Amino acid sequence: MRRYSVFAIAREALRYHTGWERAWRSPAPKASYDAIIVGAGGHGLATAYYLGKNYGITNVAILEKGWLGGGNTGRNTTIIRSNYLQDSSAAIYEKARSLYETMSQDLNYNVMFSPRGVMMLAQTHHEVRGYLRTAHANKLQGVETEFITPQRVKELCPILNIDGPRYPVLGALWQARGGTGRHDAVAWGYARACSDMGMDIIQQCEVTGVRSEDGKVVGVETTKGYIGTKKLGIVVAGHSGQVAEMAGFRLPVEAVALQALVSEPIKPCMDIVVMANTVHGYMSQSDKGEMVIGGGTDGFNNYTQRGSFHHIEETLRALIETFPIISRLKMLRQWGGIVDMTGDRSPIISKTPLGNCFINCGWGTGGFKAIPGSGWAMAELMAKGEPGPLAAEFDMWRFKEGRFIDESVAAGVAH
Ligand SMILES: Cc1cc2nc3c(=O)[nH]c(=O)nc-3n(C[C@H](O)[C@H](O)[C@H](O)COP(=O)(O)OP(=O)(O)OC[C@H]3O[C@@H](n4cnc5c(N)ncnc54)[C@H](O)[C@@H]3O)c2cc1C
Repeated sequence: MRRYSVFAIAREALRYHTGWERAWRSPAPKASYDAIIVGAGGHGLATAYYLGKNYGITNVAILEKGWLGGGNTGRNTTIIRSNYLQDSSAAIYEKARSLYETMSQDLNYNVMFSPRGVMMLAQTHHEVRGYLRTAHANKLQGVETEFITPQRVKELCPILNIDGPRYPVLGALWQARGGTGRHDAVAWGYARACSDMGMDIIQQCEVTGVRSEDGKVVGVETTKGYIGTKKLGIVVAGHSGQVAEMAGFRLPVEAVALQALVSEPIKPCMDIVVMANTVHGYMSQSDKGEMVIGGGTDGFNNYTQRGSFHHIEETLRALIETFPIISRLKMLRQWGGIVDMTGDRSPIISKTPLGNCFINCGWGTGGFKAIPGSGWAMAELMAKGEPGPLAAEFDMWRFKEGRFIDESVAAGVAH
């Protein structure tokens, strides 16, 4: 793979950019692989990358029914933070956040990680208590966060209305090294690195069945024919229930649509990410100047990549009272993704009833930030057959045994 650098750009500029290679190959599937990953989203690609990088397993295929990064990975609002309450969550999200810090250099691909700071507003006394508790827990976990005053909130984000009308800002949980990244670039960077290691990324290849013998997966049926494998990783987010059913087991996961929208571009007015969880909306400004806006999930299960109309209204109502200056902005685009929600709003990185089949899902509305940490932990699970410390508590049997990692009650928000 040719290294991307300022010299490469200069050289190509001199020859009218005719010498660039394709970033990844598009091969036909081989008859079998040492490992198959279903789903070329960020988590699937990161799993493949760390299988190669950390364990030297490169005879790997990543099968994608659409185009790579076309699922939630290319549809999210790109918030990256690790200010979770529970130890196991803070550990994996902080591992991911720290890998984001050097990802552009590691992958030789600019993922535009922007640690601009993430602020979660406290607008009720309950939230103040909750975020103080999280800030204390984060100190013990080695995650850098602090609880800040309303005055500091206003200094960091002058366009914020801290006086109400319904919920005045009483403080905020601030993570200065949280921020955003370029979601497509994360998928493309991992894809390029995987392809360079000799892995096959096979797009337009839907897995339609899982073949097993004596309690072990032997291969998958796909729209491009049967492909054999020694190990299978299922990493398909909102479609996890469907693929798990093909493999013969049920998951405690439900699929719902989550949507986001962007405004017309305006001059820079906000250089941090703000989440207002009581009124339920969050916003940041993209490099193009668009205000990037998100809110809650649909209240019913569905597989439409749109999201329902009333949520747009609710989210905008919440954000207009938080940021009155956006009240006259025109909205440019809106889209949705199918997210995989577990009961405790924490992910699953787990062995399954099939010996050599592993599952990574349940990242729900907040898995972009976790991509590198999740891939790291899933690769370890697939390579060794047993979870390492990062994944140990995220097995799927915790729902049967009542060992929840309850971020839903702890944080009240999952983006
Ligand atoms: C609107 C929105 C906003 C969000 N905002 C944030 C945010 O700000 N911060 C954050 O951290 N997270 C956010 N998220 C969540 C985040 O996007 C996801 O958790 C994350 O992208 C999941 O990545 P993934 O690789 O698991 O799934 P995906 O990117 O969805 O990849 C799964 C892939 O599997 C493929 N697939 C499915 N079935 C099959 C099959 N049978 N055969 C082959 N391939 C198959 C799909 O086509 C898809 O490409 C948001 C999500 C949405 C929808």
